[in-house]
Amino acid sequence: MSNRRQVVVIGGGVVGLASAWWLLEAGFRVTLLERAPTVASAASYRNGGQLSYRYVSPLADVGVPKKALEWLFEKDGPLRFRPEADYRQWRWMAQFLRNCNAEANARTTAKLLELGELSRQSLAQLEINLPLSEFGWRNAGKLVVYRSEEAFKAVLDKHDTDRNRAVLWGRDAARIEPALIDLAPKLAGGIFNPGEAVADCYAFCLALEKRIYAHPRFERCMHTAARTIFVEKGKVTAIETDAGWVSADHYVLAAGIKSRDLAATANLDLPIYPLKGYSLTAPIRSEHVAPNISVTDFERKTLFARIGNDLRVSAMVDLVGENNSIDRRRVASLKRLARESMPNAADYEEAEAWAGLRPATPNSAPIIGPTPYRNLWLNVGHGPLGFTFACGSASLLATMMRGNEPPFALDCLAYRK
Ligand SMILES: Cc1cc2nc3c(=O)[nH]c(=O)nc-3n(C[C@H](O)[C@H](O)[C@H](O)COP(=O)(O)OP(=O)(O)OC[C@H]3O[C@@H](n4cnc5c(N)ncnc54)[C@H](O)[C@@H]3O)c2cc1C
Repeated sequence: MSNRRQVVVIGGGVVGLASAWWLLEAGFRVTLLERAPTVASAASYRNGGQLSYRYVSPLADVGVPKKALEWLFEKDGPLRFRPEADYRQWRWMAQFLRNCNAEANARTTAKLLELGELSRQSLAQLEINLPLSEFGWRNAGKLVVYRSEEAFKAVLDKHDTDRNRAVLWGRDAARIEPALIDLAPKLAGGIFNPGEAVADCYAFCLALEKRIYAHPRFERCMHTAARTIFVEKGKVTAIETDAGWVSADHYVLAAGIKSRDLAATANLDLPIYPLKGYSLTAPIRSEHVAPNISVTDFERKTLFARIGNDLRVSAMVDLVGENNSIDRRRVASLKRLARESMPNAADYEEAEAWAGLRPATPNSAPIIGPTPYRNLWLNVGHGPLGFTFACGSASLLATMMRGNEPPFALDCLAYRK
């Protein structure tokens, strides 16, 4: 491949930035198109910070539809639904339900584990250029705790090849993490995986942006919105932006939830839907007992991670359309959930609330690689694990764009309607 090939990457979130870096390293000349004045101001801003390479099970699973109905009626339940007059919401839910079976879950989990492993290796490779300390990376380990015997037994019954994980019964789950002292009496058990990490996704994006701008093959970042993808004779000819036309040899769509509208301008139908989530960033002071291990409260669907001097608490899956306004009632719910599990972990009064839209596919598998247009590529739909998968997805994309075989079969990661 000639090293003069130009690519326009649309979207400066964690996935677009990682794509830009891996394409630069693969020999492409890159232009980044980001509509906001700064990078990573959308879903990549204040997410849960988990680099969860092994805990990748899709949201769609056996029993989830029944559970979802119960959650809708719980005061602080993890799920909300507001019907929209948009066929994409209903189609997404129908496809999601079709994936709520053991076979589909196992198939997608296997693929996501491959992508997770590639992501772990790719981040290690990036470390040569970007020290992990620049974005608060910590090998925190991940402890998933279960309140009900039933949920705990169900997860133990699932086949898991991970030899490193430790199964902890009852209060033992709290023994390795003192911040769980208040929750301990309510726990059936937990599973600890020492290999998982946490980091600050926003800091990662800013650090990566710096490396991208300094790269000899980087051309420019245009802070303007892409509006329309123009196609002719099976290929993209140009992108219309708010600042005029941009053209290149290749185009990568990595614009988070907005990818579906942009793709639609080229008659591509992306099965992604915004799953709105919330986070709290609460300061940790000397009197607090914050968790060092990253903790997931399985039944409450709440994640706790220490990021620098703050505790990041994230949760909620709200199907309420493309709307990232902060609903005070959901923030109050999240504070109640956090206080109930870890009352002394941080100063929740001073917590800053944030809401973001996970660009999710019905089976939780991102879409990476070619499209029916020979120079248009996708890196979209990373849902709840976009930070985790960003480096692996970018490396996979760059491999394919160089014309090489991906390290594993794409299967459910390939473009689909
Ligand atoms: C509450 C919450 C917690 C989460 N926790 C975790 C976690 O712990 N671990 C994890 O791995 N993942 C987590 N995620 C998921 C993760 O944050 C997302 O999957 C990831 O940020 C998606 O990245 P992205 O680059 O695809 O999208 P985004 O970050 O949304 O970036 C898309 C970019 O495209 C730009 N853009 C949009 N339209 C246009 C246009 N027309 N022209 C130009 N630019 C455009 C946007 O401005 C934006 O900068 C969480 C998400 C939420 C909401």
